[in-house]
Amino acid sequence: MYQIKRKDFIKKAAVALGGTSMLVAACGKENSDKTIPAVNTGKTFEWRMVTTWLPHFPILGEGADRLAKNIETMSNGRIKIHVFGGGELVPPLETFDAVSQGVAQLGHSASYYWAGKAPSSQLFTSIPFGMNSQKTYAWLYFGGGLELWNELYSNFNITIIPAGNTSGQMGGWFNKEISSVTDLKGLKMRIPGIGGKIISKAGASAVLSPGSEIYTNLERGVIDATEWIGPYHDFLMGFHKIAKYYYYPSFAEPTGVLELLVNKTAFEELPNELKEIVKHAAGSLNISMLAEFDTKNAEYLARIKNKSKVEIKQFPDDVIGSFKKYADEALQELADADPFSKKVLDSYGKFRKDIAVWTDIADKNFS
Ligand code: CA
Repeated sequence: MYQIKRKDFIKKAAVALGGTSMLVAACGKENSDKTIPAVNTGKTFEWRMVTTWLPHFPILGEGADRLAKNIETMSNGRIKIHVFGGGELVPPLETFDAVSQGVAQLGHSASYYWAGKAPSSQLFTSIPFGMNSQKTYAWLYFGGGLELWNELYSNFNITIIPAGNTSGQMGGWFNKEISSVTDLKGLKMRIPGIGGKIISKAGASAVLSPGSEIYTNLERGVIDATEWIGPYHDFLMGFHKIAKYYYYPSFAEPTGVLELLVNKTAFEELPNELKEIVKHAAGSLNISMLAEFDTKNAEYLARIKNKSKVEIKQFPDDVIGSFKKYADEALQELADADPFSKKVLDSYGKFRKDIAVWTDIADKNFS
């Protein structure tokens, strides 16, 4: 796992971010005989899982593999899953439709990819200046978040189960020191989603580069800055060789909740014990992937610190303050334009306020 070369990684990143254009080749439905009641415990299921990552993509694709294997083992082979990386069965960004239409029964992905279908979907991955992973799970599992997420996806015949997490990310790579918010004016930065809206409000322009082109674009000055994931994946991309500054914290992605999309019709056909197995295998990935990300990020942040000339810096307070103001504006605009986004943000905001009574004290025990 440690010998992954930057070149291979970039090749994988290209496909994971939609570099291929293979069409949906597979047709149709599984051979499910609806006359057999779902409680028939002897029945076995052969399922497909499509993903937005390339096969075995570090941590993310590896996590999807692990999830499929765990479901198969826990069900004693009663659910068999064929995992397809992005582009193998359908293009990465058709993962959602493939599951919705039953081309695949499962999909492993991140909900912010589906903002074009339902703007509120992006709020379930991460919210700028929002809660960290632990608190986000508290909201999802005990604060009504998951119910809202399922309400949204049920319109697409999809059941959602949280499955995996990138942990908090980094602010990004810059070739210029960011001493005040005016240093962002005119800057071209690769940053998607609401993060892009934030830096646009600061006078920079948000650029969308496919994963395969970020390195070259940054090297040639086509872009001046980029964010990606965290130290481990960023190191594999090689940004430490061409950028001067590595800024934290991530104002856009304080967590990175990943999702297991399940075709609702297929899920309802499972007997209860198999439903629980799917849910618990996904739940276990939330912990194991988060742990893996944090461990690898620590190791690779140390490498970047010790083996490159990159300066690792915190955004100054007034820059963070401006980002926060712009994030609030961007979220308000989203809420104004889309009633379901407002509903999600209201639930999230109230939960965050309520839980702070405890976490403000509990978190301090460890800092
Ligand atoms: Ca990112």
